Amino acid sequence: MERAYNFSPGPGMLPDEVLDRVRDELLNWHGSGMSVMEMSHRGRQFLEIIGQTEADLREVLNIPASYRILFLQGGGNLQFAMVPLNLLRGRNAADYVNTGYWSNRAIEDARQFCSVNVAASSEDAGFTYAPTQAQWRTDPEAAYVHYVSNDTAAGVEFHWVPATGQVPLVADMSTNILSRPIDVNRHGLIYACAQKNLGIAGLTIVIIREDLVGGALPITPGMLDYGKHVENGSMYNTPPTFAIYVAGLVLQWIKKNGGLTAIEERHMAMSSLLYDFLDRSEFFRNRVRKNDRSRINVPFTLRDPALEETFLKFTEERGLVHLRGNLALGLRASMYNAMPYEGVRRLVEAMKEFEARYG
Ligand SMILES: *Cc1c(COP(=O)(O)O)cnc(C)c1O
Repeated sequence: MERAYNFSPGPGMLPDEVLDRVRDELLNWHGSGMSVMEMSHRGRQFLEIIGQTEADLREVLNIPASYRILFLQGGGNLQFAMVPLNLLRGRNAADYVNTGYWSNRAIEDARQFCSVNVAASSEDAGFTYAPTQAQWRTDPEAAYVHYVSNDTAAGVEFHWVPATGQVPLVADMSTNILSRPIDVNRHGLIYACAQKNLGIAGLTIVIIREDLVGGALPITPGMLDYGKHVENGSMYNTPPTFAIYVAGLVLQWIKKNGGLTAIEERHMAMSSLLYDFLDRSEFFRNRVRKNDRSRINVPFTLRDPALEETFLKFTEERGLVHLRGNLALGLRASMYNAMPYEGVRRLVEAMKEFEARYG
């Protein structure tokens, strides 16, 4: 069977090797006589799986010992509420940088709990850039500063880590986690849903500096309290066991293939190939400011938008799928960690061919 090159914004592709492992171990994990799906989350075997997954994540992302790692549910979306509930800690204000769709979702939820200061926004230019730090107007009373390190819809990525001094920096890394090495120390909290870069839907990773744990607002339900999850080793309730297992396999695949340095090199090669083509083309176009272009999500438009459906059909016939953009944003190629270079090479070839035929 020919596997498709899946450019979907999420869920994303998984490495073939990982899917093969899942199939081989599906009915009987390591002689346990059962599938990971059937295991007790408190049993010796699953504790081994979650322990190894956490250790590998710590190693691959170089997470210092002073940070806790949580395996939660509720997607990136639930973090939009959990962050203010847990990090306000007696304050009544928070800073948010608005780079588009996902920042807006986070802001909307935060407004239920505190006054939100939009410290910077790229809305004035249709979310086509990342506001430089000099443009930020932060609130001295803010409990934390929230930003989306890679806006999936706008295709805008911060290629630098904001400096927020003593104020904890919170990052939604849902779409660029594990795509490059990061300095975890510069952050108070990092979160990411798993289904884009490290596995399947149902799992959200939270990396939180230990001094930020335990100050949730009194109204916080147990399930939304990081402190409760930390105390219980991510087993305050039944964790998403199978998704944790798959994330573990993806981490092993990353380690085996050269770690984050190798992944980053591949992302640079794939995204340059596509952007170089877009910049030379008279027919396709990406509007994002060059320095802020995402290596992961590349939105683009056709000179003649009426050809979009034809383009989607043309690429699908070549095994290149899910290139539809977000809402009004035309087309988009999302290249998560499991996208092979070959997929992007074929996409660019198809775009050239399409341009030659319809341009
Ligand atoms: C996909 C995404 C989310 C939401 O994730 P869900 O798991 O669907 O809740 C949040 N933030 C960003 C940047 C995303 O790309």
